[in-house]
Amino acid sequence: MPRIPINIQEGKIQEESKASEIIVGIDLGTTNSLIAFVKDGQPNILKEHGKSGLVPSIIHFNDNGEVVVGNEAKEKLSTYPERTIYSAKRLMGKSIHDLENYVDGLGYTIIGDEKDEKLLKVKVDDKFYNPITLSSKILSALKIKAEALLDQKVTKAVITVPAYFNDTQRQATRQAGKLAGLDILRIINEPTAASLAYGNGIDLDVVENIAVYDLGGGTFDISILHIERGIFEVLSTHGDTFLGGDDIDIAIANYWIETYSIDTLAFSDLKYLAEAAKIHLSTNSIFKSQVNDIEITLDLKQFETLCNPIVQKTLQSCQQALNDSKLDKSAINKIIMVGGSTRIPLIKNAVANFFENDVYDAINPDEVVALGAAIQADILAGNRKDILLLDVTPLSLGIETVGGLMDTIIPRNSKVPIGAGRNYTTSIDGQTNLKVSIYQGERDLVKDNRKLGELLLKNIPPMPAGIPKIEIKFMLDPDGIMTVSAEELRTQTKTSITLQSQYGVSEEEMAIMLLDSINNAEADMQSRSLQEAKTEAVMIIQSSHKFIKQNQSWLSELEINTLKDYLKLIENFLKEEDKDAILQGLENLNTFSRPLAEKALDKAVEQNLSGKSIL
Ligand code: ADP
Ligand code: MG
Repeated sequence: MPRIPINIQEGKIQEESKASEIIVGIDLGTTNSLIAFVKDGQPNILKEHGKSGLVPSIIHFNDNGEVVVGNEAKEKLSTYPERTIYSAKRLMGKSIHDLENYVDGLGYTIIGDEKDEKLLKVKVDDKFYNPITLSSKILSALKIKAEALLDQKVTKAVITVPAYFNDTQRQATRQAGKLAGLDILRIINEPTAASLAYGNGIDLDVVENIAVYDLGGGTFDISILHIERGIFEVLSTHGDTFLGGDDIDIAIANYWIETYSIDTLAFSDLKYLAEAAKIHLSTNSIFKSQVNDIEITLDLKQFETLCNPIVQKTLQSCQQALNDSKLDKSAINKIIMVGGSTRIPLIKNAVANFFENDVYDAINPDEVVALGAAIQADILAGNRKDILLLDVTPLSLGIETVGGLMDTIIPRNSKVPIGAGRNYTTSIDGQTNLKVSIYQGERDLVKDNRKLGELLLKNIPPMPAGIPKIEIKFMLDPDGIMTVSAEELRTQTKTSITLQSQYGVSEEEMAIMLLDSINNAEADMQSRSLQEAKTEAVMIIQSSHKFIKQNQSWLSELEINTLKDYLKLIENFLKEEDKDAILQGLENLNTFSRPLAEKALDKAVEQNLSGKSIL
């Protein structure tokens, strides 16, 4: 067979387009998302002229099953709360049990399966969406926006995540990117990105310790970094994936409910108003509004009282991060404010007091993370050789040992990438299999930590207990995603896995998810036609009973009993949810009752003619 020559021209075109492809930086926020890119060496937020680059991380499903994202979706929040999903990031990598009280306050429905923790889904009408799919809808919208504004294809991105995101949540984020058609080149921590944006402008010979305090809508992060000659070294990090401006809004809404006993307004509307009050109080001393003829107010003092528990929690995290960094407060040169909630003066003051230093708020707190992500993208594109990022893992990683104990292999705040191993042995004579359960967290008992997955080392040649030498190795990649391997060193029996956590989604499952929408369409149609048959049956049963009652004067006993038997039969089919039987039952009833209905109609006409209405 003749060989096909390589088409040089095509190869060339591809190379050219490759060279000019922009890698974007994405801040996929709980509340707002942004895209940035580097142009002529400087990071820029992608925005339409004169507009903000913030895209609300909100997804709305309209009647036709179409999806809208961003401001357009935000507008639907109060009118269609059950079809408008916000804070999907808070659901990433979580089980229904992790969310407990949280789900109650939402305007949309989250369902979980008691038996299978994996199944956390958002229900809209009769469709179900998992958090990965939801996040991918936001990323798709961002991708489309970027392609339109940059007038070129965008397929590569750096995405930021809260430093405190665990392995599961990072993988979920990466999968969301993949579903949106984005190749996620790197996942970096939000505070680290912020430090890059800050450090981009400073002199290379500056040596500084900085704290990045990031309070957004749904998450809080604090990181302590050391910057020296372009090397950004994360010393420690701490935070809370369930703490942010949202909690302040909820606190205000609850305060109003208690104070004014307003129960006529939907909680989501009240929360919306609470957010407006919060933003107003960043620059004013009192907020007033009218809710169904009741004047509700919030003054600065009360507002600050409500904020205080949230602020205190963030300061505890700051203290923990300081302890871990082994630095004294006085060694911190700059405190960088990130996230929309740091616009609250009380918060700035509390943080300044805590660190006994002024805070640095010169970069727009909404934009700083995305700008940093763009700089990291530029580093990966090979355009920046002057900066190096040394990130850390926020949580300890280890395995379960006898007695349900956590044995840490990689301690928290270790630099990534990192590899570490430790030797173990068997506890039973002749043991041929060893199950290794992998956990992430700081507690001594594994039951209090997060299980990431399992590894099975099979076919260990039988030996007395304690003799095999089994090395378990953890490799953490620069994104904070882990590979685990186990090897019996005497016989070199090996196995390894990239962690596919029990809450995450495997490659196969990803493929299934992509197909799911098609298959679901079939299932959805099935359930819809059952629903329609049920509704019709209920209506006909009701009107038939009414018919019997209204016409019992002339219906024979046999006719009445036969009608009732048919109705009973349909009621049974309803209970069994048997669509075909319901439809058959309705048809049988119809065949029997049609002549009776005609007779009734004749009688009505007769009565009408004689001047008496039957109605
Ligand atoms: P995320 O990182 O979670 O996406 P952002 O950094 O975009 O969040 O911050 C969003 C949060 O900031 C919201 O809770 C919003 O109400 C709050 N926020 C925005 N502007 C202000 C302001 N002027 N005063 C107080 N809070 C604000
Ligand atoms: Mg943020």
